[in-house]
Amino acid sequence: MSMIPYAKQSISEQDIEAVNEVLRSDFITQGPVISQFEEAVAKYCGAKFAIAVSHGTAALHLACLALEVRVGDIVWTSPNSFVASANCAIYCNAEVDFIDIDPDTYNICIDSLTLKLQQAEKDNRIPKVIIPVHFSGQPCDMKALKSLSKKYGFLIIEDAAHALGAEYTDQKVGSCAYSELTIFSFHPAKMITSGEGGMIMTNNPQLADKIKRLSTHGITRETGLMTEESHGGWYYQQLDLGYNYRITDIQAALGLSQLRCLDEFISKRKKLAERYNHQLQSLPLTMPWQNPEAQSSWHLYVIRLNLKQLKIDRKSVFEQLRQAGIGVHVHYIPIHTQPFYQERGFRQGDFPESESYYQEALTLPLFTDLTEEQVDFISHKISDILLSNLNPRFL
Ligand SMILES: *Cc1c(COP(=O)(O)O)cnc(C)c1O
Repeated sequence: MSMIPYAKQSISEQDIEAVNEVLRSDFITQGPVISQFEEAVAKYCGAKFAIAVSHGTAALHLACLALEVRVGDIVWTSPNSFVASANCAIYCNAEVDFIDIDPDTYNICIDSLTLKLQQAEKDNRIPKVIIPVHFSGQPCDMKALKSLSKKYGFLIIEDAAHALGAEYTDQKVGSCAYSELTIFSFHPAKMITSGEGGMIMTNNPQLADKIKRLSTHGITRETGLMTEESHGGWYYQQLDLGYNYRITDIQAALGLSQLRCLDEFISKRKKLAERYNHQLQSLPLTMPWQNPEAQSSWHLYVIRLNLKQLKIDRKSVFEQLRQAGIGVHVHYIPIHTQPFYQERGFRQGDFPESESYYQEALTLPLFTDLTEEQVDFISHKISDILLSNLNPRFL
């Protein structure tokens, strides 16, 4: 029996044709489609600038570099994220710390953040950058973050790897209305794919130029930026230490073609999520929170098991579902509990909300081409497992 995956790309004949067209053209790497893709995402999100790069992790790294995160600086992010959200600061030799999550939203908790900032101010250790993560596609409380950033003077990079197409106070995530920079990922599990790929959004022209340059070795061909007169048509100068984080035209063609279907992808995901909500409503579990000021992109559908009402744990539910051919997953193992971060001084217990969430969380399959029948099958299976394992003390 084949497993229903937790996530899966949706590739149309139109997508394949768009990629073929690039393969038949003169340029397969730095051709015209990359800027078309960038302009299309910028327009979609309502941001002035977009820079396409090789993956979301590269986007995070470049975002940190552009904000001059370096040794001696501190960066805070959510422990409930993929490791890349924290690693990007380590790449820049900065120090990482975490803000515990809100037990209802699974995004960073604004109250914990406020307390942590008050303490940091006393200790003279205000972070240079905070990286909020729009977990599962539900936007964070960006108004609160923005007002704290004004008060304490930190900068904001939104990790919107899950949230392309999500809306917050009637603006698309990626508009950078509440941040310096926003990053997206186009990994096949995410909202749209370019194979591997990522993008950085900003309204700041200096940051956009700098990121563009850093994505290609720190090299410029603009005479205005050079320290001496050009030697001729071949000439370029390396101004900073950059990287090869370029995306290809082949990938950009896929991403651009996929973008045309994004709204349709989201409305299909939303319908499926509502079907799950309906089917799962009376079980001992918590369904996904919805920000009243926002529209989720519905990247992930995460349930939180009410373990007190059950006589089995999450692992057992996970394994029984996997055995039934349902590719459930868990997002995320709290980053600070990873051995790499434990070696840097973090301990189990440091961010208790993210840790207790982790004990109870289960990601159900959700992707554009998942069918209603599959949602019903998965829901029934969950219902069977949970109802036959109720804790007798709670019956
Ligand atoms: C996927 C993901 C990334 C990294 O994106 P890649 O394109 O895989 O490098 C970063 N942050 C979060 C929250 C993600 O889910």
